[in-house]
Amino acid sequence: MLDVLIVGAGFGGLYGLHKLRSQGLRVRVLEAAPSVGGTWWANRYPGARVDIQSLEYSYSFDEALQQQWHWSERYASQPELLRYANHVADRFDLRRDIVLNTRVAAAHFDEAAALWRVRTERGESLDARFVVMAIGPLSSPNTPAIPGLETFEGPVLHSACWPHEPVDFAGRHVAVVGTGSSAVQLIPLIAEQARTLTVFQRTPAYAVPAHNGALEPEREARIKADYAGFRARNRRTRAGFGSELSPHPLPTMQVDAVQREALFEERWCVGGFALLGAFVDTLTDPRANDACAEFVRGKIRSIVRDPAVAQVLCPTHPIGCKRLCVDTGYYDTYNRDNVTLVDVGAAPIECVTAHGLVTGGRAHRTDMLVLATGFDAFTGPLTRIDLRGRAGLHIRDKWRGGPLNYLGLAVAGFPNLFNLVGAGSTSAFTSVIVSIEHHIDWIAECIAWLDARGHATIEATEPAEAAWVALGNAIAQQTVFLGCNSWYLGANIPGKPRIFMPMAGGFPAYAERCAAAAHDGYAGFDVH
Ligand code: NAP
Repeated sequence: MLDVLIVGAGFGGLYGLHKLRSQGLRVRVLEAAPSVGGTWWANRYPGARVDIQSLEYSYSFDEALQQQWHWSERYASQPELLRYANHVADRFDLRRDIVLNTRVAAAHFDEAAALWRVRTERGESLDARFVVMAIGPLSSPNTPAIPGLETFEGPVLHSACWPHEPVDFAGRHVAVVGTGSSAVQLIPLIAEQARTLTVFQRTPAYAVPAHNGALEPEREARIKADYAGFRARNRRTRAGFGSELSPHPLPTMQVDAVQREALFEERWCVGGFALLGAFVDTLTDPRANDACAEFVRGKIRSIVRDPAVAQVLCPTHPIGCKRLCVDTGYYDTYNRDNVTLVDVGAAPIECVTAHGLVTGGRAHRTDMLVLATGFDAFTGPLTRIDLRGRAGLHIRDKWRGGPLNYLGLAVAGFPNLFNLVGAGSTSAFTSVIVSIEHHIDWIAECIAWLDARGHATIEATEPAEAAWVALGNAIAQQTVFLGCNSWYLGANIPGKPRIFMPMAGGFPAYAERCAAAAHDGYAGFDVH
């Protein structure tokens, strides 16, 4: 029997195995893919790279690892991130407890034995006292039910399950559906290779340049000289990264327009999420938000030569309401002669035929179809497992009205089950590895506390869960996050309840609440 079964060998599962095993627990990781790496194994489309600088999107738990690992670029590419995951698996001798090519089909809580009975798709059974779901909030790809999709005669590729062999776009007419983070990364590269590229845009994206390039040796040396201090300062910021830049001390609209523009321009030149951190109120004050949004719209108009195309590319929803895209040459791609933008915001894609897509009564011929249509976020990865808690309660039924949870880590009715970087945690707004390390450390401490006292189970209470979800909703009400149709709200999936699923409010406040619950003897949990 295992002490802990971890599902998923991405960054969460790898650190979970290392940490829990090093405190003497018997741990096994089951991974559906033939490799470690999680999201960085699956999302290997052209241009896939991280949108947070690698010096900040990396593990902090081991000083020697963070000193010795060298990132070649400011924003690591998918292959480099996959190498890093493999390096960590080897360096900490993790592979002996990881079973690859093994998808979990079911996990049922056996109340009499206080154990999780886990079954794989191949039919193996494993018992564990605790289960940690390290399957990521964005691992269940969304393929829209466009009529006729199955009749398309060319290849249909999804950004989140990209083929492992190289895809040749040369001489082909390619269509991309979607303009989120994945699409914004792959569109410029496919445009360079394809004969024509037609982009079907339902909602325009705000994209800020990464200004990616070789990692500057002086910057690397400066950060590594006090890496622990740098990590600690990052953990005190709302997003768990970006501590090198502080927001302006005044709210946006109290700063005169010239200074405001100058600061936006400075942050645009820094690149990435720095723009959203220029002022403290960008995500909470609609006027402040619109000032930032209008700055980006101005950039789009200045980059894209055809004013009609620029207009279609200009978003009208609040900036940051959907996750900001971090790009390399995205808007400029629309200046190419071989690229066409089709607005499907007003008139959806009607159908797919053998040779193309039809929208607004017009057929668009294509040889290849790329769906960069995102994920069934937060709930999808868990609800596709036959996951049952007390009295056979299925997670699908528990979450019919939205993902009830406490601290983002636990669900009432599902004892001894922990969920990593899921609904109810601030992980989506942080450098996710900061959240992963926080969650795993919290879980490790919790299991040690239970074991030291001879307790068999821990389970979130329903009142604690209700209060946590109410807190999440109350915080979201004070933000711009409710002002668009994002995956944070489940609004990208037809029929999914429109609930703001992550926790806003910043990582430090979240971590404090988690710590307070633990220090109060796991307040909000029943322990037996
Ligand atoms: P996404 O942000 O959900 O974007 C999906 C796109 O597909 C949206 O433009 C969406 O339009 C469109 N779409 C979906 N269904 C459609 C339909 N039936 N017809 C037309 N358009 C449709 O997904 P993603 O780009 O894969 O990114 C998801 C998240 O993964 C990101 O927000 C980010 O957190 C993470 N990610 C990060 C990076 C990175 O830079 N490191 C890269 C990729 C992904 P609507 O907006 O109208 O729904």
